[in-house]
Amino acid sequence: MIQFHVYPQGKRRAVTFGYDDGHQNDERLIALFRKYGMKGTFFLNGGNYLHCTDEEAEALRGLYKGQEVACHTLLHGWCARMPMQSVVTEVFEDRKILEAIFKTPVTGLSYPSGSYNEEVLRAVRACGILYSRTTCSAGRCVLPDDFLAWHPACHHANALPVCEKFLQGIDSEWEQPLLYIWGHSHEFREERDWEKIEEILRMLSGNEKIWYATNLEIYNYTEAQKRLQISADERMFYNPSAIPVWVEKNKQTVLEILPGQTLTLE
Ligand SMILES: [Zn+2]
Repeated sequence: MIQFHVYPQGKRRAVTFGYDDGHQNDERLIALFRKYGMKGTFFLNGGNYLHCTDEEAEALRGLYKGQEVACHTLLHGWCARMPMQSVVTEVFEDRKILEAIFKTPVTGLSYPSGSYNEEVLRAVRACGILYSRTTCSAGRCVLPDDFLAWHPACHHANALPVCEKFLQGIDSEWEQPLLYIWGHSHEFREERDWEKIEEILRMLSGNEKIWYATNLEIYNYTEAQKRLQISADERMFYNPSAIPVWVEKNKQTVLEILPGQTLTLE
């Protein structure tokens, strides 16, 4: 039996963050992420960067360096209340603006105000979006069944008990593979708000059992696991992806399969 529930270096837990709207407070939050070794994804509205100069673009690249930037639509409308042609424009134009600034493909999305339905989901997929986060806190530390309706575990305002439970169960074999905390940095209005988020980051930091990753890194890793080609007797493993992948065999052995490698067990 092969199971996927191992991350890079055989770790069993991952932590990620998602912050929407692109506010000036992102700078202070990212400084805290760097201090505590955290990674997150920042969902930006391209409509705020329509007339971005080269100097401003360079400053934005510096600000978000080491984190992921993703879409939050052009003008922050309710996708479920739009004609699908507007959804396409909102997502595709946002991608183009952010890709011109950040000089990398931008393939993540969070639905503004969490507004989506099945038709929106199909439209954003057609726009090249690989994953999209909702605002529906699941209260559970799970990987999404559908990456285009990715429910986070909790909002940062309610994160403390979820973090405590996640850390208490870190050695449990029961599934709680991913702690996803979301919010808006403009919600940090007073010093005590900053103290609260810093306490959470301090709690979660520096744990060798945790993989700290952006949303896209988690998507890419789990997709690479699914692309593994495994022989019927589960002794040969071909990894066609460009990143190493880990799996667990018979609840005992953790295997690392390097990019392009066929691993053969004796
Ligand atoms: Zn928003």
